[in-house]
Amino acid sequence: MTENAFLLNLAARYGTPLYAYDLPAVRRAAAALRSDLPAGSRILYSVKANPHPLLIETLRTEGCEAEVSSVGELAVAIAAGHAPERVLYSGPGKSPSDLRTALASGVRTFSVESVTDRQRLDALAQDADVRCDYLVRLNGPAGSVHGSLRMSGSASAFGADVADMEALRALLTVRSRTRPIGLHTFFATNIGNEDSLIAEFQQAVRTVSEVCRETEFVPHMIDLGGGFPAPQAAPGGVTRHPRLASAVEGALDAHLVTRRTSGVEIAFESGRYLVGAAGTLITEVLDVKRSRGRTFAVLDTGVNALGGMSGLGRLMAPQARPYRLAPAPTRDVPSGDEPCPVTLVGPLCTPLDVLNRSVDLGEVRVGDLLAVPNVGAYGLTASLVGFLSHPLPTEIVHDGGTVVAARRLALAEVHL
Ligand SMILES: *Cc1c(COP(=O)(O)O)cnc(C)c1O
Repeated sequence: MTENAFLLNLAARYGTPLYAYDLPAVRRAAAALRSDLPAGSRILYSVKANPHPLLIETLRTEGCEAEVSSVGELAVAIAAGHAPERVLYSGPGKSPSDLRTALASGVRTFSVESVTDRQRLDALAQDADVRCDYLVRLNGPAGSVHGSLRMSGSASAFGADVADMEALRALLTVRSRTRPIGLHTFFATNIGNEDSLIAEFQQAVRTVSEVCRETEFVPHMIDLGGGFPAPQAAPGGVTRHPRLASAVEGALDAHLVTRRTSGVEIAFESGRYLVGAAGTLITEVLDVKRSRGRTFAVLDTGVNALGGMSGLGRLMAPQARPYRLAPAPTRDVPSGDEPCPVTLVGPLCTPLDVLNRSVDLGEVRVGDLLAVPNVGAYGLTASLVGFLSHPLPTEIVHDGGTVVAARRLALAEVHL
């Protein structure tokens, strides 16, 4: 069966909107990333990209560990088979209750972002009568990369400023219950060009080595973060980085001369690269309308299920570029007349519910099924799932043409 026929079958069987996740694509991405990185690197999957348990489990069997930023993500990671003591718990807003739960669940490695964050962790480790390790997340100098979402290098809620060596010295001191074991950088994401990605990692290695030198800190672990790119809601494949491994090796050898003898672990993180290509969103065209010279295709799903953060005005509209899976079964329905660019809108009662302002789809008709590719990362989970109380898309996981899981999440009322 062709891939399109398979997706059409899924739509017929489970209805739309529907997210389909392809496990072999997850495995291919994990293998590609591993072979593009220095041998022996740890790869941490950033669960926030897609917390579906089967995706986490598949990545675990591919040798990826887990990076989580909430107790919800932690619970799924543990349920998917991760040993809690190997999970990295990170994020700028870890509440006492989050930390208590994480410690009680067995997490022993955290990324801390400030002196307050570390003090809180130390006090709660004392309460729980455990010891734990942490990485210090750095907010490094401004880098060279433009066009991607920068997480560092400017005033930021993320990480400890490298300019403040005094705070870093305090953070890199052993306390009664907590011990710094390394440094954590995550300077930019979705860097679409190999030279820029290499420059970003070289910058990260230089920053880490400078902090180590200034504070006389000897790291056991260096988490260089990520930035590995993936197309989002538009056609395209997984990018390869044939020069990356040796460039990172070279930077590590040049700047961390103790590396080979001290056996420091090098880790990388990725969300979108590992799962982005695995996801496809299938949606049905509910209506096609002309208004003042523009054609609108109204879909059965919108920013409530895809790119929802853009509805907050923070990011660009998703610019989804779907392809037509199948034409409508009947041809006597209104269409956009001449093939012309259409505006794709969702079912929400807000002008913000736009998946693309102008995209060429040929002739669009009511009943057409469209497939949005590359939505395995930051799709459903990064969306406004509660808005207008629409049911959420179904999620299907398939492996070599067999459906291995089907579910639909629902918001539950919790009585307090
Ligand atoms: C979100 C996040 C990632 C993953 O980013 P991608 O662009 O999905 O690869 C990695 N590390 C940290 C600390 C993050 O917050």
